Amino acid sequence: RIVYVDGQYVEEQDAKVSVFDRGFLFADAVYEVTAVINGKLAEYDGHITRLQLSCRELALQLPVSIEELKKIHLALIDKNQLHEGAIYLQLSRGNAGDRDFHFPGAEVKSTLVLFTQARAVIDNPKAETGLHVVTCPDIRWHRRDIKTVSLLAACLAKEVAHSKGADDAFLVENGFITEGSSCNCYIVLADNTVVTRQLSNDILHGITRQSLLELAAKDNITLEERPFTPEEAYHASEIFLSSATTFVLPVVSLDGKTIGTGKPGPIAKRLREIYIARVKAQVE
Ligand code: PLP
Repeated sequence: RIVYVDGQYVEEQDAKVSVFDRGFLFADAVYEVTAVINGKLAEYDGHITRLQLSCRELALQLPVSIEELKKIHLALIDKNQLHEGAIYLQLSRGNAGDRDFHFPGAEVKSTLVLFTQARAVIDNPKAETGLHVVTCPDIRWHRRDIKTVSLLAACLAKEVAHSKGADDAFLVENGFITEGSSCNCYIVLADNTVVTRQLSNDILHGITRQSLLELAAKDNITLEERPFTPEEAYHASEIFLSSATTFVLPVVSLDGKTIGTGKPGPIAKRLREIYIARVKAQVE
């Protein structure tokens, strides 16, 4: 696999980042994951807009122009002949030559790394079977709207899920589900209303979420943006989640409780279908 590191395209085994890189030492870095379908970028503008927001919040400077960044994405797809999967981008505050909490001066350039990951996005078998999910406490910091690489809490939540034989974890704070370990969460009420938590610093503003809400509104699905509890979710007719690389996936059990019929529900199926249609139109 060819990866990109600070202006160079190199074989992954030859890629190097300093031990003094602030991404490594302090998780002083932001990232984006963009799906690649049919060798093309899905929802690219949304991801780059969010990257710019993350950078602004942390006073991080991109070392390349926005035009150049797109060229790098396209070059990596091409060099790796990636048909379907994702591109991971990470931008850290760079290598200050020592371990020092204070931000380095402007002379220290940020470190930009991108690599591709091949995987089946559209034909995901979990879309047919649905996911088993457990809840666990949300122990993350309070700026979840910034997409930082500080993902240890997400790793721990996924380990809890794994140890219980589940596929993923939904995070709970003050009695309410915030979001999933790496996704936004939705419940469907008996009257088919879709409920998802409103945007704030408590959750990542999912690019997939934003598109899904637009598509759902056009499809005359009633939406409510508000917090919901695990208890309300246990009694929902459906639960589903969204992210850049899973699109929409149904959840068929939460904390061992069967949701609805125990099979992927019609609203989640419909939203997955119209979301795939949206992405396919982008990558034609
Ligand atoms: N919430 C969290 C915590 C995430 O890590 C992610 C994606 O990785 C999402 C939500 C979904 O965001 P997006 O749809 O932009 O991938």
